[in-house]
Amino acid sequence: MTFELKVIPERYKHLENESPLRRYFAMARGEKGDSNSVTAMKMSKWFDTNYHYIGPEFSSGTTFSDFSNDDIKVLNEIAEAKQYVGGDMSRIRPVLLGPVTYLLSGKVSDDLKDRFALLPALTKSYLALLKRVADTGVEVVQLDEPALVTDIDDKVKQAYRNIYITIAKELPSLKIFLSTYFGDIYENANLVAELPLDTVHLDLIRGGEESIKTIAESGKNISLGLVDGRNIWKTDIKRKIEQLKRIAGTYKNTQFYVGSSCSLLHAPMDLSFETKLHSEVANWLAFSVQKLKEIATITKAYNKGERTVKKELEENKKAIQSRMKSMLVHKAEVKNRVSSVTVDMASRNSEFPIRKKKQKQVLSLPLFPTTTIGSYPQTVEIRKKRAAFRKGDITQEAYISAMKDNIKEVVKFQEDVDIDVLVHGEPERNDMVEYFGENFDGFVSTQNGWVQSYGSRCVKPPIIYGDLTRSKPITIEWISYAQSLTKKVMKAMLTGPITILQWSFVRDDQPRKDTAMQIALTIRDEVTDLENANIKVIQVDEPAIREGLPLRKRDRAEYLDWAVNVFKVSTCGVSDNTQIHTHMCYSEFNEIIASIAALDADVISIEASRSRMQLLDAFKEFEYPNDIGPGVYDIHSPRVPSEEEMIDLMERASKFIPKEQLWINPDCGLKTRSWKEVESSLKFMVKAAKKLREKY
Ligand code: GLN
Ligand code: ZN
Repeated sequence: MTFELKVIPERYKHLENESPLRRYFAMARGEKGDSNSVTAMKMSKWFDTNYHYIGPEFSSGTTFSDFSNDDIKVLNEIAEAKQYVGGDMSRIRPVLLGPVTYLLSGKVSDDLKDRFALLPALTKSYLALLKRVADTGVEVVQLDEPALVTDIDDKVKQAYRNIYITIAKELPSLKIFLSTYFGDIYENANLVAELPLDTVHLDLIRGGEESIKTIAESGKNISLGLVDGRNIWKTDIKRKIEQLKRIAGTYKNTQFYVGSSCSLLHAPMDLSFETKLHSEVANWLAFSVQKLKEIATITKAYNKGERTVKKELEENKKAIQSRMKSMLVHKAEVKNRVSSVTVDMASRNSEFPIRKKKQKQVLSLPLFPTTTIGSYPQTVEIRKKRAAFRKGDITQEAYISAMKDNIKEVVKFQEDVDIDVLVHGEPERNDMVEYFGENFDGFVSTQNGWVQSYGSRCVKPPIIYGDLTRSKPITIEWISYAQSLTKKVMKAMLTGPITILQWSFVRDDQPRKDTAMQIALTIRDEVTDLENANIKVIQVDEPAIREGLPLRKRDRAEYLDWAVNVFKVSTCGVSDNTQIHTHMCYSEFNEIIASIAALDADVISIEASRSRMQLLDAFKEFEYPNDIGPGVYDIHSPRVPSEEEMIDLMERASKFIPKEQLWINPDCGLKTRSWKEVESSLKFMVKAAKKLREKY
């Protein structure tokens, strides 16, 4: 949308006469040039999903496209769609991000201050675009406004009125289908009811039915999001038919649509490609294609009678009941363990200052210790070996030995570059969550359940279907092997309970926090096993802790409480001498800093380079007591940062945090980078650390 609206920041001006695609990539990924290197635009998480977007940058000089050009993405899409529906324009509903959510999704520069100053220009631009859309003969356009499920103030509300009233006035024949999702619109229902819209979409999975009354009474059509767009479970179709009957029976004058709760971008494509799933589990699932059928079945049952979908209903009922009763799902020993967790299990033996002293003796690290976040490049060879192993082309021994060879190289490299706290490089992990999922009982991995994460990167979230257990240690052999290769400290790498929860498809038959505690207990066992295997530093990654934050303020304290608790249960089983690290990326810490401190990790590494350390402000203000490694190297960009640049970043960091508390590391894991980039960057990083040590 930013590219379509031509909201192109100043620093890409020199690419104005280059191909649009090059400029597009420069904005998304950064670009290195001989004289003109540019950094990428900021990437953020889309609401509470694991989908990332590149947010616009607004300044006082921001202008928007007048859409007089012809190469407009949505017009091309409409033209394409037209072929599939035999030219019947009434069957095409193009989807655009709504103007207000767009305006809220970006960063505002200091010279602008008030983003709403851009509203008139943005309105004009959207009008021009919608006019072009209307000219194609399309009757209705969907504008996505998920900002309506968040807490919005009067200014935002006024922006909604201004822009939507103007659209209705200027383009009276174009019907607006306003889509809200990811939660309940609650008190914003009154605002939505006021707006001149044809249809309003409501998420009835994450939200309740209260708003329906307000919207229905305002005379609009309502689209009911009855099928979960964010999860993979079969819908209880009978229950949904009853819900639909009840709603439609109450509001007899309203026209209803049935749909998924939100876009199906967040669910995998088609279950029929899964040939290896446990058949009992597979029978409980529905991916996007299956969800579309569910939507059709619900609608048909309502319009034509349940008799017309008798077979579908019977099959569905069997699947729903099988899941409710299955022994694969319910294990008494797991439920008992969760209910006997004590307060003691969620706290370290001593306070941080005491631990810090003890760990200093055990680890003897210099000022500004250097480390990395865990993964090293997942090379083509690594992925080929894994694919060959999966196909059965090579033996398990051959696979393990190939991975160990990689670990050997990674350890040797780190010794050569002289990094202080080493890692094994995570070659054996396809993905930080899926890997653990594959090693837990109660999880399944899919073959093709891909979901887009950012750009061309996709993730394949595993599915938590039952009570969780770990039948044997998962990481000990790998980490012990890596430690055996070096006298330096080897840091073990685990994924934390919230991140596993957040990046998996989670059971919907028990509260999320119960599932999180089950994960925490298995991670706790792994942490203890690592300590027993004489590993001195253990990192438990929690990059997803902030993304689990509920969108509404009123729900946040409760979430943070249990999130902190499960992290602590997973990490507090160790002695004072063992150093616990955690890692978080893509996070703004202001609002959650107290909870981050409450995690009480001995060291936290965070992504900080793109914000040029500004993120540390929250830590400073809070007087964050434990150690911090603010990232000095943006691993999302192919650009190699210079030594001076990293020194400069650390000097900035030390304005926020006393230097005795600082570590030096990249922003995140290096798995998506090439060895060439990693080699140069880390050499410079260690040199930077050494210079800083000399200076201080
Ligand atoms: N340890 C993981 C890695 O280095 C962390 C990844 C993440 O934070 N997303 O790849
Ligand atoms: Zn990270």
